[in-house]
Amino acid sequence: MVRQLVMGSTATSERIAMAWLAPAVDSAGLEREYRDLAALASTSVAPLAGRADRANLRSLGLDAEGRATAQAMLQRILSSPAADPAFRGIFMRDGQWKLDIHDAMLWEAPHYLYGFQLTGTASGLRALHELDANVVDSNAIRQAGWRLWTDLASQDSLTILAAIDTLARRDEGSAKAVRAMLAGFRDARSWWRLALSWLLTHPWLDTPDGPRSPAQLMATFWGVDSLPLPEIRDERFGSPAAMPSLSYRYMAPYLFVGENGAGREWLLHDGGHAAFGAWSPLRWGETPLTVEIGGHTAIVASPGSQAIVHPASFFGERDAIRIEAGMTPIAAVAAFLHEWNHLIAAQRRLAGAHPVALLQSSWQLQLREEDPWLSEGFAEWATEEVLRPAGKSASFLRLTQA
Ligand SMILES: [Zn+2]
Repeated sequence: MVRQLVMGSTATSERIAMAWLAPAVDSAGLEREYRDLAALASTSVAPLAGRADRANLRSLGLDAEGRATAQAMLQRILSSPAADPAFRGIFMRDGQWKLDIHDAMLWEAPHYLYGFQLTGTASGLRALHELDANVVDSNAIRQAGWRLWTDLASQDSLTILAAIDTLARRDEGSAKAVRAMLAGFRDARSWWRLALSWLLTHPWLDTPDGPRSPAQLMATFWGVDSLPLPEIRDERFGSPAAMPSLSYRYMAPYLFVGENGAGREWLLHDGGHAAFGAWSPLRWGETPLTVEIGGHTAIVASPGSQAIVHPASFFGERDAIRIEAGMTPIAAVAAFLHEWNHLIAAQRRLAGAHPVALLQSSWQLQLREEDPWLSEGFAEWATEEVLRPAGKSASFLRLTQA
């Protein structure tokens, strides 16, 4: 007889009472749920084997059906009262749709090369081994161009720039087109943040109580009148990924303690900001220091190195969501909400006089990590609940939720 389910690795382990597990949906139920959602969102059903890959391509605006669905959703918004002049300014240009960063890039790149066209980058992308010979499909060119731009954010950037310089000596026209495309992507990032911000804050979702914005639905779920929108920080992860970044402010009262009157006064008047600015980049090589604190020997890693090793759990200046800018803004909405739910959960764990996430002793302050299974399940469930009142109008969002 099964009494409980134990999940996890050697590092984490969860015991879930069978009574909790019983109401969980089995795989046939999940499959049914997926098919119902796909029908509601008017998209085709992907075979199980290729489902994750297709979902990724779809979120990244790299498959035709995904682009058609995104366009149909924007079309619906356009014919709703939510479509203000800002919406038209962001998503339309000369009667054509700007669905995502790929489209926005096409409007920015001509600032760098007169007459720029996506097809003009194909020979350059081939020479740089980003595109197979004979491929002329625009989705494939788009994907290759985006991949090159994404790789520029990695450690290979110097190698890539050198390869483009080499190409320029052989084929100046191709190199110019590739450079214009890369500059176009760079400039399109601000468009992308604006587009996502519009979709998060304007009432285009139909609910029984009237039109609501995703941000309003978030506030309703959390039982507050409104919630400040976390900063949208566009990233180049190379996949439809996102992660929350919590402001240092929740930790500052525990992290920075004034030793005397002047220090306490300074911290009260936003000295915490300056303290965080001085503390967070501190690094002492790659080896942690062994130090003695209050009679205990402890191994201490530098904050600067922790920020790099644990980007998802480290702190930033402001509450923010770091999110892949290659995602179509429509698909990014649900991913953003998912991370926003993580963020608020983390805020709540650090709130109050005795935060549940902190263990304080005379010699150290311990930040308890969230349980990965529970926090992931919570964020998935919370995002479903946030979007539930929007029913059919949010079905594509629920389908693309990571
Ligand atoms: Zn998550």
